[in-house]
Amino acid sequence: MAEAGTLHDAFIDELRDAYDGEKQLTKALAKLAKAAASPKLRQAFETHLEETRGQIERLEQVFESLDEKARGKHCDGIAGIIEEGKSIMEEDFDDSTMDACLIAAGQRAEHYEMAAYGTLVAWAQAMGHSEAAQLLQQTLDEEKAADKTLSSLAEGGINQSAADAAHPEDDEEEDEEEEEPVERGRSAGRKESATVKTARR
Ligand code: ZN
Ligand code: FE
Ligand code: FE
Repeated sequence: MAEAGTLHDAFIDELRDAYDGEKQLTKALAKLAKAAASPKLRQAFETHLEETRGQIERLEQVFESLDEKARGKHCDGIAGIIEEGKSIMEEDFDDSTMDACLIAAGQRAEHYEMAAYGTLVAWAQAMGHSEAAQLLQQTLDEEKAADKTLSSLAEGGINQSAADAAHPEDDEEEDEEEEEPVERGRSAGRKESATVKTARR
């Protein structure tokens, strides 16, 4: 029987997985950018595409620091996330809804990467591969920043305009509710607890 693999072997495997995942993502980010209606969102995807190219080079430096050849190993996780993103892009949504969905797809990828790089940094530190740890931390920081940018675009208008398109009359209803919460609660036949909650607002 072959000798049992070590954490170092698992680390190299995960680096290969990340290297392949980043390569898949360069293609996917270009498609997300193209599909975005909001110029800011398109810019965010394009900026992260550039960062991703840098992350690929950074991984090559990590391999070098470990005296390993830079080599990828198919990342099924990212492939699945990209597959889901593709199905979304085939849907016939209004512009802001599509943008909201593109953000959702992008954030799935960023969170997957954050998990992967979080592990890689921790393992590199545990094994004393400090140069690798420092390089991987830079990428982890970029992934977190990309995720935050997507959140702020979603929460800074895209979600609301998609929501307004989904429920065009809701603004008016909410105003009424705030003026006469108790009356409205009763006439709508709500349960007592719901009425109390409404009245307290
Ligand atoms: Zn090691
Ligand atoms: Fe990345
Ligand atoms: Fe990323």
